[in-house]
Amino acid sequence: MAEGLWGRMRRCGQDRALALAFGGALAAGRFQVWYQPKFDLDTGGLRGAEALVRWQRAEGLVPPDRFIPVLERTGQIAALDAEVLRQVCRDIGEIRRRQLAPGCISVNLSRRHLARPDAAKRIGALAAGAGVGGGELAFEITESAAESDADRLAEQACRLRAMGFGVEMDDFGAGSSTLGSLARIPFDALKLDRSLVGRAGQPRMDEILACTVEMARRLGMEVVAEGVETAAHAQALRRAGCRLAQGYYFSRPLPREEFFALVQREATR
Ligand code: C2E
Ligand code: CA
Ligand code: CA
Repeated sequence: MAEGLWGRMRRCGQDRALALAFGGALAAGRFQVWYQPKFDLDTGGLRGAEALVRWQRAEGLVPPDRFIPVLERTGQIAALDAEVLRQVCRDIGEIRRRQLAPGCISVNLSRRHLARPDAAKRIGALAAGAGVGGGELAFEITESAAESDADRLAEQACRLRAMGFGVEMDDFGAGSSTLGSLARIPFDALKLDRSLVGRAGQPRMDEILACTVEMARRLGMEVVAEGVETAAHAQALRRAGCRLAQGYYFSRPLPREEFFALVQREATR
């Protein structure tokens, strides 16, 4: 049902309150990074994780879908992405200190953030300053619908790749993650959107998945399925040739210490 005038006004007020609270919350360390592990569908081994931000407020954990669109509109998103990257670099350092290897950690970058001409340079400097290199870190991006933004996004993505970082196309098969953007940016991986993955096991979808994996192979890209919720999804994806997967079937996103414990268990498996 369409949102009424009062509903829209209330939501506007809530959005404004979130934007106003953001700076203080950032300074107070209220944003935490959680990790959703990615697994190899053939071997079952841990291959890395996606970093997902959470906002700890008095009323509980606020999911990113609630505040990221607001921060994108206000331009505050770049500061949040940088904070997430700082925490991820700190955690990679911590895992290394424990003589363990977490695999490759992927960090989401907002396309609003990447619209800034100096975005890649700042991101590269932040990671280099923390001593984190290419093989340990990748960035997930979604394509922009606007043509003018698309050129800028491609330029920033190519700069990140030139620094040795992986660049992955997020939400492939949904919204504006199009074949056109695959031609424009030499992505290292495709992340299959959960709207496709949720239909894995249906004959027509399985053909689409197999063709997508083959296309990715020919373009030199890995495929990561996200939103894998059942054993049947995992089996169908494996049959389609998909190698990497994440989703509730394997693990929900974990707070950092729980992720560290998982990395530790995997090392002794
Ligand atoms: P996304 O990048 O597509 O992230 C995957 C989302 O799917 C996560 O939601 C994750 O918790 C959820 N998920 C994982 N496995 C399953 C599953 O099996 N079933 C279902 N139904 N969902 C699953 P989350 O953490 O709420 O994040 C939502 C979105 O917020 C992300 O979507 C991403 O676009 C954005 N986001 C999260 N963290 C950051 C960040 O640090 N920076 C930026 N710019 N965006 C972020
Ligand atoms: Ca993502
Ligand atoms: Ca996604």
